[in-house]
Amino acid sequence: MAAQETVDHKYVYDFSEGNKDLKELLGGKGANLAEMSNLGLPVPPGFTITTEACQAYLATGREPDGLAGQIESHLEALERAMGKRLGDPQDPLLVSVRSGAKFSMPGMMETVLNVGLNDQSVEGLARQAGGLAGQAASGGADRFAWDSYRRLIQMFGKTVCEVPGEEFEHALDEAKHAKGTHNDLDLDADDLRGLVDAYKKIFLEHTGREFPQQPREQLDLAIRAVFESWNAERAVLYRRQERIPADLGTAVNVVTMVFGNLGPDSGTGVAFTRDPGSGAQGIYGDYLANAQGEDVVAGIRNTVPLQELEQLDKSSYDELLGIMARLEEHYKDLCDIEFTIERGKLWMLQTRVGKRTAAAAFVIAGQLVDEGLIDLDEALHRVNGAQLAQLMFPRFQLDHEFQPVAKGIGASPGAASGTVVFTSARAVELAAEGKSVILVRRETNPDDLNGMIAAQGILTSRGGKTSHAAVVARGMGKTCVSGADEIEVNVPAKRFTVAGQTVNEGDVVSIDGTTGKVYLGEVPVMPSEVVQYFEGSLDPEHIDNALVRAVHRIMTHADGKRRLAVRTNADTGADAARARRFGAEGIGLCRTEHMFLGDRRELVERLILARAPGEREAALAALLPLQRADFEEIFREMDGLPVTVRLIDPPLHEFLPPLEQLAVNVAVAQERGEDVAKEEALLAAVRRMHEENPMLGLRGVRLGLVIPGLFAMQVRAIAEAAVSCARNGGVAKPEIMVPLVGAVQELETVRAEAEKIIAEVVGDSGVEVLIGTMIEVPRAALTAGQIAEAAEFFSFGTNDLTQMGWGFSRDDVEGAFFWRYLELGIFGISPFESIDRDGVGRLVRIAAEEGRAARPGLKLGICGEHGGDPDSVHFFHEVGLDYVSCSPFRVPVARLEAGRAVVESGGSDSR
Ligand code: ADP
Ligand code: MG
Ligand code: MG
Repeated sequence: MAAQETVDHKYVYDFSEGNKDLKELLGGKGANLAEMSNLGLPVPPGFTITTEACQAYLATGREPDGLAGQIESHLEALERAMGKRLGDPQDPLLVSVRSGAKFSMPGMMETVLNVGLNDQSVEGLARQAGGLAGQAASGGADRFAWDSYRRLIQMFGKTVCEVPGEEFEHALDEAKHAKGTHNDLDLDADDLRGLVDAYKKIFLEHTGREFPQQPREQLDLAIRAVFESWNAERAVLYRRQERIPADLGTAVNVVTMVFGNLGPDSGTGVAFTRDPGSGAQGIYGDYLANAQGEDVVAGIRNTVPLQELEQLDKSSYDELLGIMARLEEHYKDLCDIEFTIERGKLWMLQTRVGKRTAAAAFVIAGQLVDEGLIDLDEALHRVNGAQLAQLMFPRFQLDHEFQPVAKGIGASPGAASGTVVFTSARAVELAAEGKSVILVRRETNPDDLNGMIAAQGILTSRGGKTSHAAVVARGMGKTCVSGADEIEVNVPAKRFTVAGQTVNEGDVVSIDGTTGKVYLGEVPVMPSEVVQYFEGSLDPEHIDNALVRAVHRIMTHADGKRRLAVRTNADTGADAARARRFGAEGIGLCRTEHMFLGDRRELVERLILARAPGEREAALAALLPLQRADFEEIFREMDGLPVTVRLIDPPLHEFLPPLEQLAVNVAVAQERGEDVAKEEALLAAVRRMHEENPMLGLRGVRLGLVIPGLFAMQVRAIAEAAVSCARNGGVAKPEIMVPLVGAVQELETVRAEAEKIIAEVVGDSGVEVLIGTMIEVPRAALTAGQIAEAAEFFSFGTNDLTQMGWGFSRDDVEGAFFWRYLELGIFGISPFESIDRDGVGRLVRIAAEEGRAARPGLKLGICGEHGGDPDSVHFFHEVGLDYVSCSPFRVPVARLEAGRAVVESGGSDSR
């Protein structure tokens, strides 16, 4: 057996053997307890059972070979070090058994305190506590011991044996009631002894066995329960939502108990080294005297601000502050901690790099650079585009009386106020009157789509981050709070109730899609300071605003680092100007279809309906100067920067009135005996052009090849606008982009005609016009080597590439079934939101490689929604594209992430 033991896998690590980099193996809690212990901080001794042991247990349903023996020898070592034995009747060693995974999963898994207490050792604990100096009366020691015992039965019962927690809560309430008090501190030793009896009965009733008296059995069962808590339903759900892999497992920490419930000179608390809300420096925390750790979170008694500990116990307070400073310096980041004071002696029970708000992330990163703890590369690594995007939403101004009435899940960020409506139809009606509405539903379904589009915000009482409401709202960029379960929605009665109040259709509510909070009435909305900064109306050098200064500093660094250029998608001069202020370095996608709407519709109708010779040419000739003016405006705003103009893309019937409407009009007019020749012709055209699958029909380059003169008119307008800019002293850099190309022959045909026109228009003006193509049809990606022969640039249209790559009709699928796909984990995030690296991403990679092989120096960009998605930006950096292009509002996010991509790939290549 001895030989066997030497080859056993190591499953148990003493705190002295671990360190903070072993999170994967020891979990965050265990790794950091080891780290603190090795720093010489006062950590109660203990050991950690690895995540590998948990994985093995979960795979086989039993403890792996060797684990029991290793626990035994570590326990013996602990007992030797402490001079006590686990559960010894005279002087028991007690331990806590604590879960702790690689990623923090707050409140998801289990912890049991005071393991080792039983009917005998509770007496020994009381005697020892009473014998210790400083204890006022032995009555206090008895109280402490029985309080600890009842806590063990409660936690053990609930966590290890699945006894419903309310049963214990109920018995505790009864004991307090009998005593005529609301405060658990008023229960004396006898009351608690009685409570222990009551708890044991509850335990017996629910488990069919007595509460286990063997300390080692308690320990083993608690360890097993922590392993199993990894697969508890709520933990599984949480992981799916947070995209934490399901197979990591949790570590188990066995830690010597220290007691915050030993009297008024003891207590327990939590603290942050900086304000996790704003990032401000200072002391933030809560303290609770005469209590064990779980009381702080449970909120049984009111905590006091940590500052008050200075009066209660100056020396522990000073020591704590010293340790906090030390931890910050060591981790070089905001830390949060749990501590306990046992009769004036401070113990550290946990630390980790703390969670923080988006604003705090920027502010803290900036401060740490100032303090010389980290450099700017590291600061850039510590913030992200999702946080920056959050800071760009308007926020509620909550300084006054507003109190939330409910809290759900912040499913899609933003701040929205509006009139409550309960049906899609009503939402559409009121929105048409110019009202801002909040659509309130139990949960939404695809029938609510119109209402969701019309609403300012969406509030549901059910469903999580992947519910229909949440997914669709995020796709639309609409504010959404989902799963606010305090709200009772009654759709037929057109009202909901919350916190004893009734809200009727027509009342106003406000919802915060970032925090998930719901308010009654209209909360004033504040513009984002970060947007004001990007817009140029806040000067970071001259205002006292830590957030704006930090954002400025980090953005400047990101710009210096990034290799990817960032362009914008903009169709108007105004959008172009705004995007330029946000840092856009050109336009990656200027759509031209909106230029055919409004009062130009009539010309388009003439173009489509043209029958007589010369009619089409006349319509095109009338459109030409209008188009030229459109482009002149955009070139002017983007003076000196490249502008990619996409030739007209959508099916032409989109420019004609809808079939049903037209048919009704014609019928009515005929009835009245009016002359309907023109309408009839239109109707016939609409019928002729009707397509079952317009997204796969006559659009893009196909249209250009079928309607003579259409592309030629656009090319001429672009070239003439560029020449006119040059004549006025500007620099226009047009890039003509042909949409929906699938075969090089398509592009060659368009190119031949375009080149002729360009040569004729440009003459010796010095204007240079590039011709390239979108890569958005899978066949184009797979034949990129051929297509590159005829293209000076590629721009990946990842929306269509995703649509055609997956065979997903974008307008239909998100509302219809994506919520289900997300729930099932078929994908973790909509492939329209973040690029599907394995599939669609592979097409991009192939096209980039084969395109560049055929034409070195081929310019590569991307102009789908993905251009502003943080994770996708990293992918495009890796693939080696030259630029990403995104909506104006996303430009700062793309700049930041393009910088982060360089830092994270370990590169220092600046442009
Ligand atoms: P969670 O991960 O939910 O915070 P913990 O394992 O940290 O769970 O424990 C819950 C509470 O019990 C915390 O407040 C912690 O400080 C306290 N606690 C854990 N172990 C001990 C111990 N050995 N002595 C005293 N208190 C402890
Ligand atoms: Mg904790
Ligand atoms: Mg497209």
